[in-house]
Amino acid sequence: MKNRNTVLILGITSILILISVQVFIITGVWKQKNELFAIRYFFFSQEAIYNIRREMSTDGFDTVRLLLDQYSEQAVKRLRTLSDKKELADSKKDILDYFTKVVNQEQDLSELLSKYFESRGLDKNFKYKIIVNNVELIDNDTIIIYQKEDFSTHKPPDRARRNSPMDIYSSSILVRGGTQLEGNNYRLNFDYFIDFSDKQKVILKETSAALGWSTLSILLVGIMFMITYKNLMEEKRLSNLKTDFINNMTHELKTPLSTITVAGKTLEMPQIRSDDAKILETAKLIGKQSIHLNQLINMMLEISMWERTQFQLDKRTVDIEEIMNDVVDSFKSGGGNSASISQKYDFRGAKVDLDVVYFTTLLNNLLSNAVKYSDKQPVIDIEGFTQDNNLYIKVSDNGIGINKIDQKHIFDKFYRASTGNIHKFKGLGLGLYYVKKIAEAHGGDVSVNSKPGKGSIFTVTLPNN
Ligand code: ADP
Repeated sequence: MKNRNTVLILGITSILILISVQVFIITGVWKQKNELFAIRYFFFSQEAIYNIRREMSTDGFDTVRLLLDQYSEQAVKRLRTLSDKKELADSKKDILDYFTKVVNQEQDLSELLSKYFESRGLDKNFKYKIIVNNVELIDNDTIIIYQKEDFSTHKPPDRARRNSPMDIYSSSILVRGGTQLEGNNYRLNFDYFIDFSDKQKVILKETSAALGWSTLSILLVGIMFMITYKNLMEEKRLSNLKTDFINNMTHELKTPLSTITVAGKTLEMPQIRSDDAKILETAKLIGKQSIHLNQLINMMLEISMWERTQFQLDKRTVDIEEIMNDVVDSFKSGGGNSASISQKYDFRGAKVDLDVVYFTTLLNNLLSNAVKYSDKQPVIDIEGFTQDNNLYIKVSDNGIGINKIDQKHIFDKFYRASTGNIHKFKGLGLGLYYVKKIAEAHGGDVSVNSKPGKGSIFTVTLPNN
């Protein structure tokens, strides 16, 4: 268990480290692509503006110029008539609003840029924003209407400044910085920013290969880990089963061996040797235990033979009901004498091709388990019927039952649900493995339905031909 947890923790940690490294790399790539995108589009924009100017003789602000010219002539006159401070401030605010509105709404640069990008096969969808830096009205002298705090320093639009309106467009590109428009009565300075709405999509497309490969590598490592882990656990399970089997087998072999040893010692005793009846009894005991030993050894040999070769069935056509009755009768007079057994058959005289010896083993194993795994007076119901070209044999008991997890494994070789508790119910974990092998060799199968504490139902299906 400890081993298993360590492997799990190690595996999951390595995968998490791998994921973090991949995320780190991808974010790096993403950042780089982001910057490249900004640089690329900045250069495209500059090129576009240059070409628009050259080919169309406009910078896209012709309408703006016209409107501002007309407006500022009136505005400056109005401003000169005002002396009240508050009125003056309100009026300046109105003028700034108008300038900002006109420069944002009436410019054609955005449309021209969009068309230019489209003609070059670039992303044409972008949002724009014009940030006004400075507005001045001029007649005889200059009236400052608005001036952005850092404007007077006239810094060139460096990177930091380019990103300054972070709150508005966090990833916007400054296309025109410090653009100056001048008329007879005004001077306007502004920055023109664009922000591509499909930028994330474009970058995602560009990084998709890297993203795909890293996801694939994570998936592959994950799958490989799962497979290795499963194999490791399966190996461990098998090795545990083998250890249990060796323990059980040693225990099974020791019992008849020690009886034989004791019986041998008994025969050496002078008082026994003079008693013919005692000698005969001891000899019979030795004989019985030797047969048991022989059976155990044969069973071992048989399993290893099954591993190497297919079952060699010696089939003959038999009346199934007759065979069932024979096996159950001899079981009743043997190991099953403590159980109350009922039989109910509806085989309709079915004749089946069976290897009688193996079939007897199959049924005996089910019946002896029904008695063995019982904590009260065993009650066994045997039912048999035919349905859809199949023959069904059900063996139900009122025993200890089997939980869901064990039900998945009880037909495996050496598997014992009561692993660890080998002395309470003796066994080697082979009985049901035999049952399944024999049923399959006859073209059939076996299944279990059980509830702990309520009992179990084993159903054997055989083809009825
Ligand atoms: P063994 O009896 O030697 O352990 P089996 O292959 O016959 O081996 O059975 C495998 C396991 O299935 C048993 O260890 C037991 O826990 C469980 N089992 C089998 N038959 C029954 C039954 N009728 N009722 C409850 N548990 C059973």
